[in-house]
Amino acid sequence: MSRVAVISTVSMCLTIVAQGWSQPVPGSLDVHWDEGAPDCGATTHEPLQVHVYEPQTFILRQSLCASFEGNFLYLLVGSEKALLIDTGAVGDPKAMPLAKTILELLPDKDGKKLPLLVAHTHRHSDHRAGDPQFVSLPSVQVVPFDLNGVRAFFDFNNWPNGTAHLDLGGRTVDVIPTPGHNETHVAFYDERTGILFSGDFLLPGRLLIEDAAAYRESALRVIDFLKTRPLTHILGGHIELNSAGRAYRFGSHYHPNEHRLELAKEDLTVLPAAFESFNGFYARYPDYILANPIRNLIGLAVIAVAVLIFVVWGLRRLLRRRRS
Ligand SMILES: [Zn+2]
Ligand SMILES: [Zn+2]
Repeated sequence: MSRVAVISTVSMCLTIVAQGWSQPVPGSLDVHWDEGAPDCGATTHEPLQVHVYEPQTFILRQSLCASFEGNFLYLLVGSEKALLIDTGAVGDPKAMPLAKTILELLPDKDGKKLPLLVAHTHRHSDHRAGDPQFVSLPSVQVVPFDLNGVRAFFDFNNWPNGTAHLDLGGRTVDVIPTPGHNETHVAFYDERTGILFSGDFLLPGRLLIEDAAAYRESALRVIDFLKTRPLTHILGGHIELNSAGRAYRFGSHYHPNEHRLELAKEDLTVLPAAFESFNGFYARYPDYILANPIRNLIGLAVIAVAVLIFVVWGLRRLLRRRRS
């Protein structure tokens, strides 16, 4: 190796060390999620399924029988602090013992449970209904879910630009504003595992659009952020498609042959173009569906009114003919 090559290799290594980016810690996604049931009353289902991705990263899935949303929640453990991303769709601790389960998973430090930060991908109630289980617990801090609260907590002073950094002790998690599905939406990038926790911004299901322009900008922002970082998986808040890419009926408690949870970088990189060619109502891609629920409702209402006018017009014509 030439002297120049050695110097450039050394400086490259120094850059990597200085930036703190090393190879992501590998983990397992080899798990079969409880698929719920056509008749939840006839079978028993554990309210929470816990999967250990790697010893410091836990994936929790709320039973489809407890809530059709079947939310995925994520617990990331550092040496000083842990982070829980989302608290799911069920508040009642008897039906969904979330806080109890999380406390059991948390390691001890100095004879006490590790401090916990509870944050949300966005304010929709299926991502924060479990908050009340945490508010009175010692050493637990719950991030507000309203936009001003999110901005203030993470110190975003140029929302939706910029990123915030959470230091969990030997583990940094970056917070990236991703409005579009909802104005408060953020994604979390975990430097330890190289996973992007994407909430409802990107998931194998319906990407419900509140603001298409903001959504597209968010996709571009995340793509730009990931340009210099390793990405292993994109893990979202729900699975709403089967393995063939077809959506389950909205509200279904039964998901046979679910699509895998994890999405890949390509699913993200095609998103801006998907928005550019979006017809404003509905578009199907292999791993997700773009849908604007408000526009679709208005579209359906317009069709319903048109049908009604046609029926009334037809009836009046019929009556006139009979009279004459
Ligand atoms: Zn949502
Ligand atoms: Zn959701």
